[in-house]
Amino acid sequence: MGETNRKADTVIIGGGASGLAAATELGMQDPRLSVLVIEKLSEPARKIKATGSGRCNITNTEAEGFSRIMRFFREIGLVTRTCENGLVYPYSESASDVAELLIERARSLGAEFACGEEVTSVERTEAGSFIVTSVFKDRDGEHRVTTAADHVVLACGGKAGPSYGTTGDGYRLAKGLGHSIVTPVPALTGVECREWDGGREPCGITLGGTRTRGVVSLYRDGTECFGEDTKAFEEAGEIQFTKYGLSGICVFNMTRCMRFDRTAGEKLDDFLVRIDLFPDGDARGFIRDSQEGMFGEMCTGALLRTVLKAPAAEYVVAEAAMRAGAAVEELAGKPLSSLEDDEISAVASCVHALEFRPSGIRGWKDAQVTMGGVSVDEIEASTSESKLAAGLYITGELADRDFRCGGFNLSNAWLTGLAAADDIAGK
Ligand SMILES: Cc1cc2nc3c(=O)[nH]c(=O)nc-3n(C[C@H](O)[C@H](O)[C@H](O)COP(=O)(O)OP(=O)(O)OC[C@H]3O[C@@H](n4cnc5c(N)ncnc54)[C@H](O)[C@@H]3O)c2cc1C
Repeated sequence: MGETNRKADTVIIGGGASGLAAATELGMQDPRLSVLVIEKLSEPARKIKATGSGRCNITNTEAEGFSRIMRFFREIGLVTRTCENGLVYPYSESASDVAELLIERARSLGAEFACGEEVTSVERTEAGSFIVTSVFKDRDGEHRVTTAADHVVLACGGKAGPSYGTTGDGYRLAKGLGHSIVTPVPALTGVECREWDGGREPCGITLGGTRTRGVVSLYRDGTECFGEDTKAFEEAGEIQFTKYGLSGICVFNMTRCMRFDRTAGEKLDDFLVRIDLFPDGDARGFIRDSQEGMFGEMCTGALLRTVLKAPAAEYVVAEAAMRAGAAVEELAGKPLSSLEDDEISAVASCVHALEFRPSGIRGWKDAQVTMGGVSVDEIEASTSESKLAAGLYITGELADRDFRCGGFNLSNAWLTGLAAADDIAGK
């Protein structure tokens, strides 16, 4: 194994969102500082290119540090567009443009990039500087490189989306420097449900592939009673029924409330999801009015299809039949005029509170963000500097900070990267 030594004022480990923001800002603040970005993939910013379904939702008007983030993007020449709901995108709506611009600006301001090089350890010397060890492979075999640095920015992200280089290396590196890690778990991801494990198979109904607007609520109750007082989350939005269970932005956001501690006896069975498929209406009143109207002989299934997508209507009838103790076909085909009170109640409650029992949370491959990471108690919030090792900075998703969808996670990455750069440049 060959070995090389080099030196830089600042080594940034990870060429993702926070690392590139830090490298660019350092170049703008003090072009005399030598900055080296070590990125383990063959090119930086792979994850940025995948964000926002290729559009990159860079920030949100409600995000902490919004004006600071916008100032940075103005300074580097990114033109943005702000949607009515506060979400901000590059004007071109191209995530690749954001990635390429950041790489180009960082490079032109003097940052060097070592790509295809994986950092394996960071040690602090007695004098308070750092030795960063990394490895890379070429046709001659594996090579080891040590870099001496005054400042190190740990910008290696979390564990979500491992194909973008984030496989949790940062936790090991931070732990080696004395930091504690809050157990990382995947978030902003889909929820697998028991109903998909054959639970509804007798009815032969496939919800998978259906998208509908509605309100998702999460209940958390160790006693599994799930009364209204146990509601832990509620959000309106588009719900996607997939081949495994539930997805969509509101479901993604819900997973941030689904952290549980097995060692403390908590379990997934403590959660119940209820979905209101007709949040703007009153299903009971709608059925009663329809019973008395011109089309009282219409069947229940047909009535539901006037407000719900066909697979959702079919599913609701099956669920309601089970609750009312009726046969599915019988309830679906029953004329409205002959519906009993308990049948109306069962249909209405299924329309407004269709229940799903989570059986799993989709893993790292599907997750957009990591919950958990380096304890924020050990990081100075205004500068991103470690409280345990001066000169060490911990940015972005590596720290135990996660946010809902809408540009908040990238905002956190930009902001913490900028804070680290400003602090280093000011020293
Ligand atoms: C599919 C997807 C879509 C998303 N869309 C959005 C969105 O639209 N808006 C939003 O706000 N958030 C979005 N996010 C979340 C957001 O992308 C992340 O929170 C953000 O990129 C985290 O920035 P970071 O700097 O902490 O790490 P990352 O951007 O993840 O970068 C970390 C970098 O470190 C490198 N690295 C890791 N270990 C090492 C090592 N040992 N040596 C060298 N390099 C290493 C990795 O290869 C990677 O390039 C999305 C996430 C995903 C997965």
